[in-house]
Amino acid sequence: MVSRVIPVDPFDLVIFGGTGDLARRKILPGLYRRFLSGQMPEDARIIGAARSDHDDTEFRAMVGNAINEFVDRDKQEKATIAAFLERLSYIKVDARGEEGWKELAGKMRKGVVHAFYFSVGPSLFGDIAERLHAYGMADAESRIVVEKPFGHDLKTAQALNATLAKHFDEHQIYRIDHYLGKETVQNLMAVRFGNMLFEPLWNAQNVDHIQITVAETVGVGGRGGYYDKSGAMRDMVQNHMMQLLCLIAMEPPYAFEPDAVRDEKLKVIRALDPVDPDDIVRGQYCEDEDGPSYFDDVENPDSRTESFIALKTHISNWRWKGTPFYLRTGKRMRARTSEIAIVFKDPPHSIFGEQERQKANVLVIRLQPNEGINLRVTIKEPGPGGMRLVEVPLDMSFKEALGPEAEDIPDAYERLIMDVIRGNQTLFMRGDEVEAAWAWTDPLIDGWTDRGDRPKSYDPGSSGPEDALMLMHKDGRRWREVKA
Ligand code: NAP
Repeated sequence: MVSRVIPVDPFDLVIFGGTGDLARRKILPGLYRRFLSGQMPEDARIIGAARSDHDDTEFRAMVGNAINEFVDRDKQEKATIAAFLERLSYIKVDARGEEGWKELAGKMRKGVVHAFYFSVGPSLFGDIAERLHAYGMADAESRIVVEKPFGHDLKTAQALNATLAKHFDEHQIYRIDHYLGKETVQNLMAVRFGNMLFEPLWNAQNVDHIQITVAETVGVGGRGGYYDKSGAMRDMVQNHMMQLLCLIAMEPPYAFEPDAVRDEKLKVIRALDPVDPDDIVRGQYCEDEDGPSYFDDVENPDSRTESFIALKTHISNWRWKGTPFYLRTGKRMRARTSEIAIVFKDPPHSIFGEQERQKANVLVIRLQPNEGINLRVTIKEPGPGGMRLVEVPLDMSFKEALGPEAEDIPDAYERLIMDVIRGNQTLFMRGDEVEAAWAWTDPLIDGWTDRGDRPKSYDPGSSGPEDALMLMHKDGRRWREVKA
């Protein structure tokens, strides 16, 4: 395969929160990898901005250490790292004060793309937008990148959208959801809309149900304080899983263009049914030899926030009426895995008799680990002995199928930041999508809060509470095994 890396236009990228965890772990190492690949132009510049005192040299040293820690060894080239660090500078800026802003405005070059990444807590988004405007940096060509959480509920999301809209048009606002930047997620669209094979079957007549699982093995760790105010529903379902569901369920957009895709996603969210309380199972992990319980992690013995949730929902439209979507996500589960499984219906009749009933076809889109797509099909068991059926996977692991080039698949953050520079919003959430997602989520959360429901406990290393298994069993279905 020939490398298709096309350099983006020259840019000045300001990372507010440039000294923070996200910048160190994801954004800056990702930018280095894009530099290494040749996608970042020679005259790209990255400006770290945060409250603490640093000079350029200290900031570069910090980023050098981050590259050392978070970039694969075989991608750490000394001369390239040095050339990348040359493009970095630092400025002390207080989002809530006036310090540093004038100097920052003076640093921005004319005639290049201006992008501002808000990698700070959401309470600072408004202050930063306000000051970018006040200091003349919110011009018509500039872009802002906003991190999750985008609101805590519908009301706060609306307020945040309104604040940003005071100074930036919607086409300048990039609400990042890194799930949309994953290679497989985009491949989901390529598989659906680039082949004749799947789309005719992609409906309630042929699909029995859909399962989306995002399982983590880690607990809430050091994020306990934040997490306990949020929980799995707000942290995972309202954003990442909702986006995955939209991409599976949406109608074919007329083009792979930002508003065409986002219009279709929005229609899906609006068509989502309210969820019956009996179709929601929430859980909290217990203690084991490897770690404390959820209560201890969040230091709140009376917490009713869920570290696990499973739910069943339906989409009320012509394509999907009657096909359930089962969503499940949790912490401290058996394996770290994210996948979407499209489980087709059984063939209507078996010509091979009752003994040799074919199993349903399943299309699995694996986000992690080993990104890839797998289709389970029925074939004849080889050899003599009559017609015995066996299931085999038609497996497409990107690394195997595409060779060494696939090793260089950009991480979600890298790809999305390059999309910001290119001015392509297709893989970013629009404000109305985010609000519609909250409008669906809020009543569910209010419901269990008003009822005073307590999450069920589950063993670390399991697939969640027993009741979550029952959620599918009672419909005569079963979850796919949580395995790496
Ligand atoms: P963090 O480690 O706490 O870093 C916060 C950054 O904000 C620091 O660089 C800090 O600078 C800066 N900051 C704080 N107050 C400031 C002020 N008044 N003026 C200017 N800068 C200020 O947080 P993070 O984990 O990187 O998260 C950043 C954002 O990304 C949050 O919205 C978070 O929810 C979101 N996010 C994070 C992750 C992740 O994996 N970390 C994942 C998804 C989303 P000083 O240290 O100099 O004060």
